[in-house]
Amino acid sequence: MDMIHDIPADIPGILSIVPPDPAADPAPVVFDSPHSGLTVPAGFTPAVPMDRVFVATDTHVDALFAAAPRHGGPLLKALFPRSFLDVNRSMEDVDPLLLAEPWPGPLSQASSVRRGMGLIWRFAWGDQPMYDRKLTVAEVRDRIDRYWRPYHAALDRMTASVHDRCGQVWHVDCHSMPRRGHALSPDPAGAERADIVLGDRDGTSCAPAFTAVVADAFRRRGYDVAINRPFKGAELVRRHGAPDRGRHSLQIEINRKLYMDEVTRARHDGFDRLAADLDAIAGEICAHARSQMT
Ligand SMILES: [Zn+2]
Repeated sequence: MDMIHDIPADIPGILSIVPPDPAADPAPVVFDSPHSGLTVPAGFTPAVPMDRVFVATDTHVDALFAAAPRHGGPLLKALFPRSFLDVNRSMEDVDPLLLAEPWPGPLSQASSVRRGMGLIWRFAWGDQPMYDRKLTVAEVRDRIDRYWRPYHAALDRMTASVHDRCGQVWHVDCHSMPRRGHALSPDPAGAERADIVLGDRDGTSCAPAFTAVVADAFRRRGYDVAINRPFKGAELVRRHGAPDRGRHSLQIEINRKLYMDEVTRARHDGFDRLAADLDAIAGEICAHARSQMT
């Protein structure tokens, strides 16, 4: 396979891309980790301590998937905290309760916004308000322009270059989730979650065979896998999933109990085994995608 990947430049504090290993057979796959960023943006002054802000981040997910580019596909990472600006929301998911003035554009009716987890989170965690003041429309627009748009532009370009050259592209959207449901989540508070939750928006964001390949890769290694419950995938897989046009997009949620202490967010002994399994699974994903090209 010829050069298929177009890799945008890194943007300090906003995004960073690990290109595919030049020695690897290129794969028509793009990985992204939109929620693992821990760089505090200038001017972000929440009313809560930063460790409360970081509770919502998918800490270490970028490190867990660090080996994926060795199998032929790049890894895009957002560097800022997801509750500051969540790229896995649409630009219409603005929470009017955050604002000091009316939002001049269209507003979605998404349940994530009602739960305080919209484009900009109203709560740090549970019922703890993120801010002790209302935000201005200009502040929200600035975050959209400086964080949301560049991230989406990079991912759009990365997936489009593969699709243009191969006719198909596989996008793997990498996340982690708390062990149990909580006050902000769609499942009941306290509900135990599976090791892995795959989200293909109820079978609409990728070929069913792709979801099956990834589920099997985890199950063969001893993980229990749920599909679309309680997370079916959000804006990123919605935007990039159009299987009838050769665009396959799958969300992977990893249970944080497998690799970190959820209170301190430090890696625990399970991290290395999980990272090794994800290395092998990324290899299977890339091999599957290549096999579909022939
Ligand atoms: Zn996430």
